[in-house]
Amino acid sequence: MAAQTEESDCAREQTKAEQDVDQVRKRAARDQQRLDSGAVSSPKDLENLQREITSLAKRQGDLEDVVLEVMERRESAQARVDELTERVTAVQGKLDDATARRDAAFGELDGESATVTKERQVVAASVPADLLKLYEKLREQQGGVGAARLYQRRCEGCQLELNITEVNEVRAAAPETVVRCENCRRILVRTSESGI
Ligand SMILES: [Zn+2]
Repeated sequence: MAAQTEESDCAREQTKAEQDVDQVRKRAARDQQRLDSGAVSSPKDLENLQREITSLAKRQGDLEDVVLEVMERRESAQARVDELTERVTAVQGKLDDATARRDAAFGELDGESATVTKERQVVAASVPADLLKLYEKLREQQGGVGAARLYQRRCEGCQLELNITEVNEVRAAAPETVVRCENCRRILVRTSESGI
C-alpha cells in the first residue's frame, strides 16, 4: 500500500510538473507570436519580449528536468509495486493452500470425533453404571485417563511396577472384580500380558 501511495503521489506530481511545462510553453509561444507579428515596434518592448522568451526557454528546460526526475521516481515506485504485488500473490497462494489443508484436517477430525464418540457410547452402554461413574471420576482426577492397562506388572497409567503384595492381591481377585492401582488409583485393566 505504501508503494502504491508513493506511485500515485508521483503520478500526481508528474501531472502537475507537466502542466507547469505546458503553461510556460504556451506563454513562450504567445510571446513568439507577438514578436513575429510585428505588432510590437518599440525597441525596448522588443528587447523585453526577447528576454522573456529566453528566460521562458530556460524555465521550460528546468521544468522538463523536473518531469524527467519525477518520471524516474514513478518508474521505480511502479517496479516496487509490481514486485510487492507478485509477493502478495505468492503469499496469498500459500495462505489459501494452508487454509484449504486446515479445513480438510478439521473435516477429518470432525469425522473421526463423531466415529469415536459413537464407539464410546456403545462401549459405555455395556459398562455397569457404578463402574462407569468411578471411571468418570478417576478420569477427571487423572488428566483424562481413568483406566490403565496392567502390562508386565506395570501400571501403564503411572508407569510404576506393582510390588509383590499388590501382585498377589490382583492375582487373588476374581476376574470380575475391579482392581485399582495402589499408586495412582486408576482402574487396572488385566490382560494375558499383565504378568500376573
Ligand atoms: Zn498407576
